[in-house]
Amino acid sequence: MSFVYEALPMRVVFGSGSLRQLPEEAERLGLRRLLVLSTPGQRALAEEAAALLGDACAGTFTEARMHVPVEVAEAARAAARAADADGCVAMGGGSTVGLGKAVALDTGLAVICVPTTYAGSEMTPVWGVTENGRKRTGRDRAVLPRSVVYDPELTVRLPLDVSITSGFNAVAHAVEALYAPDASPVVSAMAEEAVRSMGTALPALAADPLDIERRADALRGAWLCGACLGATTMSLHHKLCHILGGTFDLPHAATHTVLLPYVAAFNLPAAPAAQQSLRRALATDDVPEHLARTSAALGAPRSLSEVGLSEGDLDEVIHQAVSQPYANPRPIIEPALRSLLTEALRGSLAA
Ligand code: NAD
Repeated sequence: MSFVYEALPMRVVFGSGSLRQLPEEAERLGLRRLLVLSTPGQRALAEEAAALLGDACAGTFTEARMHVPVEVAEAARAAARAADADGCVAMGGGSTVGLGKAVALDTGLAVICVPTTYAGSEMTPVWGVTENGRKRTGRDRAVLPRSVVYDPELTVRLPLDVSITSGFNAVAHAVEALYAPDASPVVSAMAEEAVRSMGTALPALAADPLDIERRADALRGAWLCGACLGATTMSLHHKLCHILGGTFDLPHAATHTVLLPYVAAFNLPAAPAAQQSLRRALATDDVPEHLARTSAALGAPRSLSEVGLSEGDLDEVIHQAVSQPYANPRPIIEPALRSLLTEALRGSLAA
């Protein structure tokens, strides 16, 4: 056995009500003028954080949007300059965390994240900014948050349908980490535990979205899934989702949810250790079918056509997917990829 594992220097504060520890986290980092970021829909939460920070809050910027449009990143940086901010607090899902990273990348400002979805971006050094309809991405340790405050109480307000798709989005990170070219026993152990945690939490949340213990399990799973994403190189599934989101504007988490079982069916036979790990974590012999049936039973979309893709789009998806080489357990050749995408378009595994 041989591998390389590099730990990322992240501090995590986890627990119900931990939002109240935000001022302490700011103080620990020596931050006295924080700009609080959120989407327009989470303005009330941003104001709650601002009130908690008191004098350590330099203002709020509540215009975060999906995929970090460059003009939003510029406006946030201008707001940080105008407020003479020495750091940011990103309160929200991947869109707001992404905005915090875009600010950190260009200004070097410290970021504290308070994640409220299961996207996991707060655990990765990956940033992205969208300009003229194209998302540029990169890896830079400068965008890593200095502290991450996970408060399950904040996720109780996450609508159930978003909770489910965001949860499967997280599971996808762990699945691809298990067969990543740079997988390691440490990451694989995290990935298996992450899938187990999320896999039991999501059906329980569908029954009772207010169950704070299960919300904690899901958020803990999301943290570990995000850490897997941050530690490894993703393969076919993430590549396809990037194309479907970037070129066809398909919804991020729902697309991950629909596609994952089909990529798992394609890749797992060539990745036996990953398959064993997922079988244990999900307590099933048939991982792809389990993923497809569970997500459908919990109300998630079943097919790519339901989330907005049409048969005529497949050629372009395939063209983009095969045009750049990247690591994957199975070679990505056109006939196999077309058949995978056609099945996902129809939702045949959840039928
Ligand atoms: P999101 O951040 O856009 O949130 C979806 C919606 O839910 C928003 O309107 C938000 O205001 C609302 N919301 C969030 N939390 C809520 C809560 N607790 N209660 C009520 N409403 C809430 O969606 P997302 O799926 O978290 O993030 C997707 C984005 O993150 C994409 O742009 C994706 O590319 C990016 N991402 C990046 C990485 C990375 O490592 N760089 C990793 C994962 C995702």
